Amino acid sequence: MTNNRPNRPTTHLEVLSKEWLTPDMLRLIVGGSNFPAFRDNGLPEAYVKIVFDPDGNPYSSPVDVTKMREEEPREKWPKTRTYTVRWVDHDRQRLALDFVIHGDEGVAAPWAVNCSIGDMIQFMGPGGKWSPDETSDFHLFVGDESSLPAISASLERLPEDARGVVVVEVSEHVVNVQHPAGITLDWIVRGGNDYDPEALAKRVRSLDLKDKGNISVFAHGERDAMKQLRRVFSDLEIPRERLSISGYWAYGRVEDVFQAEKRAEMGKI
Ligand SMILES: Cc1cc2nc3c(=O)[nH]c(=O)nc-3n(C[C@H](O)[C@H](O)[C@H](O)COP(=O)(O)OP(=O)(O)OC[C@H]3O[C@@H](n4cnc5c(N)ncnc54)[C@H](O)[C@@H]3O)c2cc1C
Repeated sequence: MTNNRPNRPTTHLEVLSKEWLTPDMLRLIVGGSNFPAFRDNGLPEAYVKIVFDPDGNPYSSPVDVTKMREEEPREKWPKTRTYTVRWVDHDRQRLALDFVIHGDEGVAAPWAVNCSIGDMIQFMGPGGKWSPDETSDFHLFVGDESSLPAISASLERLPEDARGVVVVEVSEHVVNVQHPAGITLDWIVRGGNDYDPEALAKRVRSLDLKDKGNISVFAHGERDAMKQLRRVFSDLEIPRERLSISGYWAYGRVEDVFQAEKRAEMGKI
């Protein structure tokens, strides 16, 4: 069976180091001799789809996902989990991926905790299309721990005189983020409280965004929270071309289900 999808190569690298950024954020630095196969797209929101076998275990030898999808029945296709490329160091042939550690459930986060130096990691990508609009007068970034890698990489690309606000909800721990002086960080720390999908929207509604000129928005995170934010941005009349908004994950959904639901009404932001 053939199709018209572009051939998206599967890249295999190895885990070079592990570093806990906070008790619930783990950075893996990956690279090795196959690093030249990584096709950097240079975007701050660049993301890869890490592949695992259908049982959620890493493959022990290189695979070709495009070929598997062409030749194997769907139940044998790999599971994928999406992660932002936090940074790429071409000189040292390595890149960083930051994993939110959200409990014992899941495929990618538990794998990241348990993997060893030298283990193989395989992924498709990178994909992505957004980068900060330097002509904007004001930048608004909204998200949670899962979008902090993309937000942090974006802040590092802004000009020194950039102005804006970053609103991020975290369960417990604040991450060290470099940002231009004119960008304010506004953390919502949930602590022991239940998750409230309206928390980000409420906080953004409370911001004084009048007289800020052209505002551009990057809002990514939990699906229900993004749905609430969509209404706020609509009320603020943020033009479509200045708004990047999507769900990165959804409460109670494994990524396979979350991605499949994107095609249904409930998955639309
Ligand atoms: C473009 C894009 C970029 C992303 N970048 C990153 C990134 O850099 N770092 C990152 O950590 N995540 C990122 N995500 C989100 C990540 O893909 C999901 O969180 C994914 O579900 C994690 O897979 P898993 O195997 O650990 O858990 P799954 O098997 O998918 O889910 C298991 C359970 O954990 C819950 N869960 C999943 N993620 C979270 C979370 N963040 N907090 C609390 N509960 C959760 C699910 O609802 C489910 O109940 C990104 C997503 C997208 C679409």
